Amino acid sequence: MSAWTSSRVAAGSNPDWQQRLTDSLEASTGWSNALQPLVHHMMEGLPLTLDEGMVLYTHPNLNEVGRLAHMVRAARFDDKAFFNSNVHVNQTNVCVLACKFCAFRRSKKASDAYALDIDAYLEDLSQYADHVDEVHSVGGLHPDWGVEHYEDLFRATRKAFPHITIKALTAVEIKHLSQLSNLTYTKTLTRLKEAGLGSLPGGGAEILDDDVRAIICNGKESSQEYLDIHRAAHGVGLSTNCTMLFGTIETLEQRLQHMISLRDLGSETRGFQCFVPYPFLPDDTRLPEAQLATGSEILRTIAVSRLMLHSIPHIKAYRMNIGDELAELALQFGADDIDGTVQKESIMHLAGSTTPLDHDRYQLSRLIKDAGCIPIQRNTTYERFETYVAPEPKRIKRLKVVQE
Ligand code: SF4
Repeated sequence: MSAWTSSRVAAGSNPDWQQRLTDSLEASTGWSNALQPLVHHMMEGLPLTLDEGMVLYTHPNLNEVGRLAHMVRAARFDDKAFFNSNVHVNQTNVCVLACKFCAFRRSKKASDAYALDIDAYLEDLSQYADHVDEVHSVGGLHPDWGVEHYEDLFRATRKAFPHITIKALTAVEIKHLSQLSNLTYTKTLTRLKEAGLGSLPGGGAEILDDDVRAIICNGKESSQEYLDIHRAAHGVGLSTNCTMLFGTIETLEQRLQHMISLRDLGSETRGFQCFVPYPFLPDDTRLPEAQLATGSEILRTIAVSRLMLHSIPHIKAYRMNIGDELAELALQFGADDIDGTVQKESIMHLAGSTTPLDHDRYQLSRLIKDAGCIPIQRNTTYERFETYVAPEPKRIKRLKVVQE
């Protein structure tokens, strides 16, 4: 088993990936007329434009788009595919907002509303603690929990489980805490980091277009606030992920502009580690006008993400949302990461996900190998890596045949 480390910015990428990409594109042949100008643009190391993104989104040959995305992914990571050992503990479903796509939130008085106090949170986590090195915690905007609550929670978690990194609180939760505690984003994030917060997940980006947001998540942070909060996190040394919820009411142009906004911030701060595009799941939500992405569209969006986002190293095929089968295929369409073992998750499953929650490292490694990749276990922040070698399958003992 081999282990290695990487810097926060490189996040495990080959340092000369751009040159490797140029070399492999120069050696490649057979591109259709529609994609040739774009391939030349990429050879020069230039970011793709919104118009080029539209060419990728509307190109009739999905496999050709996937081939191009796979070349970028291979230049960065060869045939490695990443996963980690993690668990999701959602601290509360009580939320003062009511985003239309959300099947998770409850009002404080709802019969199935819950809010884990610190002991209950630690008790929940303790059931998985021996098998994970990351806890992913996001939840509703609880009206009574300010920054002090989360400082206490993170300190207690780090004390009880020092080997577990805390990846917690989406941008809108940071905004909510900042408002409740009357602090700037930077001050809020600094205090949380000092209390043990290790990184931020990317949730809540939805589509960074305020007209779309006004319809699907009215009252949430604005597009600019999402970017400002992630910029502030990068400024205090916290790495973050970023996401895109697609298949609601947005146009293709709005998806591409979303990617370009994140790409620009990534170029400025080098603080994004992973982009997670995930389709809207409709169960129990209030968005009948949603367009719902098909399997091909999900693969295409993952490929387009890889091609548009040169300043964000990792593209995740989020198996909790798209399922194991599509996540496996996505590893050949530009994705390099399939998230983790997860063990426990509520938000996507309440919205209709049927992805199994009990996968262990062996099962994930099988999924990765079947996609033609080498399984690599990573830590939360993509700085420590280890090649995962699956244990030998147990031999079945043969029963002795008793002769009469
Ligand atoms: S998506 Fe988040 S902010 Fe919106 S209603 Fe659900 S829990 Fe609340």
